[in-house]
Amino acid sequence: MEQTAREVFATFGFGEIRPPVFEPTDLFARAVGGETDIVSKEMYSFEDRDETSVSLRPEATASVCRAYIEHGMQQLPPPVKLYYLGPMFRRERPQKGRYRQFYQIGAEALGGTDAPGIDAEVIEMVMLFFARLDLEGVQLEINSIGHGAPECRRGYVEKLKAALEKVKDKLGEDSRRRIETNPLRVLDSKLESEQAIISGLPRIGDHLCDECAKHYAEVKRQLELRGVAFKENWRLVRGLDYYMRTTFEITAKGLGSQNAVCGGGRYDGLVELLGGPPTKGIGFAIGEDRLILSLQEAGKGGIAQRRDVYIAWLGEKAQPAAIDVAQKLRKAGFRVELPPTEQKFGKALGQADKLGSRYALILGEDEVASGQWTLKTLADGSQQKYSEATLLEFLSKQKQLSS
Ligand code: AMP
Repeated sequence: MEQTAREVFATFGFGEIRPPVFEPTDLFARAVGGETDIVSKEMYSFEDRDETSVSLRPEATASVCRAYIEHGMQQLPPPVKLYYLGPMFRRERPQKGRYRQFYQIGAEALGGTDAPGIDAEVIEMVMLFFARLDLEGVQLEINSIGHGAPECRRGYVEKLKAALEKVKDKLGEDSRRRIETNPLRVLDSKLESEQAIISGLPRIGDHLCDECAKHYAEVKRQLELRGVAFKENWRLVRGLDYYMRTTFEITAKGLGSQNAVCGGGRYDGLVELLGGPPTKGIGFAIGEDRLILSLQEAGKGGIAQRRDVYIAWLGEKAQPAAIDVAQKLRKAGFRVELPPTEQKFGKALGQADKLGSRYALILGEDEVASGQWTLKTLADGSQQKYSEATLLEFLSKQKQLSS
């Protein structure tokens, strides 16, 4: 999966960045927001020897922006396109698809313009990655949350707040608290009893300023140009000020309630907030654990462990030949299983089958003596005899055909 991400992202000009696993707590407090659940409740923070607080990273965008500033990447031709992969840490309540150490693959495009073509291309890249993985039931939802000005999102949030005040008594405790702390987050609520109320609330799409409305319309057109199917969801929001305009989320099949496999959006104010120059930015983070779950649910798990050739050897004289052919096959790039001790052929073939091997190479003392080796195709049980040289030739041809 990671290999595929690297390949697909490289075709869009993205290069890898490896941010550190921990950073000063203050970086996350500023970038993710001290009021958010992630920072206020879920971060693993500890005191360093010099009594400063450091935290295991709950996400990586903050670190990428910090590195962008620290290493003067604004000097590079924009947008600077970076991807990362690795573990993130959040002290959430563990359940299926939600872990305290989980893995993300993410990418950021920093600097240059906020042209909607960038938003659309970044989304196209994730969708292409998912298509390559053959992920099932992929659904892209998009929205625009405008920008922080009074004639745009700030005005909308005031209206939303007023509307929420009116229905306060019917809301749950969390949403009631959020009317004051972060009213946009009320729209995220999954509480059954709040759904009808939320559907009657004012919608951001009706309150975007002209510039943001134009940007959003163009993002949609750019997605269409790229053949990327999407659904609009006005409830898709981000609660932090530096997030603006495009937001998106992608869900996949087989994941139950934790079905988001990717979240992303534009964050044009973040680099500046962290002390850098005004910088446009857009990015996403994919939950790798959930991708694996979804692929497994669809019966596509474990493919990486498959073997091309299982070497079923038996007898002292057969082992040197088995080691030798294993070395040659591996050098040619085959995935080879060479059992460390001899096995009866019946058991060996059973093992080969369990490992999803394509072929079993049967090497007993008779085969070694005659120089005629037996290759069994496990899918149909057919067998063929080869000399060592013709065997390698045959397998290489098969490989070319299948790749
Ligand atoms: P976020 O950084 O919260 O926007 O999350 C981006 C993606 O990371 C989500 O869509 C999930 O797929 C994944 N993710 C977030 N938190 C967790 C977690 N605790 N366990 C597993 N995956 C997660």
